[in-house]
Amino acid sequence: MYINGEWLTGRPEFPVNNPATGEIIGRVTDCSDQDIEAAIAAADRAFKEWKKTTAYQRSQLLYRAWELMMRQKRTLAELMTREQGKPLKASLNEVQYGADFLLWFAEEAKRMYGQIIPSARENQRFLVQKSPIGVVGAITPWNYPISMITRKLAPALAAGCTVILKPAESTPLCAKAMMEIFAEAGFPPGVVNLITVQNPAPVGTAFCTDPRIRKLTFTGSTAVGKELNGLAAANMKRVSMELGGHAPAIVFPDADPVHAAKGLSLVKFLNTGQACISPNRIFVHEDHAEPFIKELSIRASRMVAGNGMSEGTGIGPLINELAIQKVDSQVKDAVALGAKVETGGHRLTDNGLNEGHFYAPTVLVGVTPAMKIYREETFGPVAPVITYRSEDDVIAMANDTEYGLAAYVYSNNMATTMRAFEALDFGIVGINDINPTSAAAPFGGMKNSGIGREGAQEGIEEYLNTKLGGFTI
Ligand code: NAD
Repeated sequence: MYINGEWLTGRPEFPVNNPATGEIIGRVTDCSDQDIEAAIAAADRAFKEWKKTTAYQRSQLLYRAWELMMRQKRTLAELMTREQGKPLKASLNEVQYGADFLLWFAEEAKRMYGQIIPSARENQRFLVQKSPIGVVGAITPWNYPISMITRKLAPALAAGCTVILKPAESTPLCAKAMMEIFAEAGFPPGVVNLITVQNPAPVGTAFCTDPRIRKLTFTGSTAVGKELNGLAAANMKRVSMELGGHAPAIVFPDADPVHAAKGLSLVKFLNTGQACISPNRIFVHEDHAEPFIKELSIRASRMVAGNGMSEGTGIGPLINELAIQKVDSQVKDAVALGAKVETGGHRLTDNGLNEGHFYAPTVLVGVTPAMKIYREETFGPVAPVITYRSEDDVIAMANDTEYGLAAYVYSNNMATTMRAFEALDFGIVGINDINPTSAAAPFGGMKNSGIGREGAQEGIEEYLNTKLGGFTI
């Protein structure tokens, strides 16, 4: 725990496991209700001075944090692989993506522009000024344990807010390492605080009900997000909700099916499928299904599962036993209802993998809307393939979900891509692009995938109030 510029110890602790080996790799403090109160009080006190700092001062500290993060890139990536499981190369990419937010918002801090608005009255002037919203409670998930932190903290700090971070209980060590960076960068006591906890519910309640907290920013499941949003709404708090997804990927008949299979296998199995923007329903035109499925299955079956620290590992473990059970039950349900397993479809236990939570990269064909996997977020290495006949049909099928985060389209026809882009009800659409994310681009969802955007110019707006001054002169 890091509260008011101090590392607090001497409290009960909980262990952190490596999901590839099961071994305990560290222990962190399990904070109490008094600790939550201390963190809120510290952030509230610190806000009174922090909000008066200039954008240039805040920017300097964010630059320093970015420099420190870049210097420690490999150490942070190794820690991430041990704590979360993704292959080292993917961890290095995530640390870079995480650092990008510090740099982007170090720059955006200086662009919190207001406005002068002309009035209909000759002797009146309108002035619009942006001001930091106040103390922010931030809750982050385990699947991207560093970038989800900087995606929230960088804009909040740039805006002049103070923050209390509560990371996921599976990945508190990455959060602790990030907090060390913020401390070394020189953020004043109380401006950034960390509370680690095994049972997150009391923290969620405090963030949503304590009058000193003005904003909740949450990334996690839709179920928890809805619950917290309800509580926050009752207390009139601003919220950002980055929730679950069920991304469709459409391969149009004019696309190269082999090229599309290559791209979609890369994004599907990224982070072992544990990504909110992972393609969860892959729609392929019936005329091209055969070469597509063949290529996708070959690529899936060739992936080497293992410890992310080992050279050649292409796919890491799932985060825990529960995740294995959920993926396996979705696959079994699909098979019982008529889907066919092209490759995978089972847990991996050979060659020492039984110590961790490994599931074989899986391709399912003949998936239908009656199956759980068609609607539930998968969060595992399973690629469900569905065939379709017409553009209208496939757009309707793609939009037939409660979620609206990401979608993917493969087509070589400009008009088709534009029609699909406009017709898909998703916040992010990758057009022949499997990585439509950047600190400079707005990330976020529609429908049950959430509220608000992270990154880009919009990212800082989420932490600002708009104040209007009407002046009679
Ligand atoms: P989760 O909702 O179980 O947990 C997310 C965070 O919320 C964790 O820090 C957890 O400790 C905390 N939490 C859980 N219950 C809480 C409660 N009652 N009060 C307060 N905090 C609580 O989700 P998860 O399994 O850790 O993460 C995976 C989910 O996150 C997936 O649904 C995924 O799609 C989503 N996600 C979304 C984005 C996005 O940007 N939209 C990014 C990454 C992950």
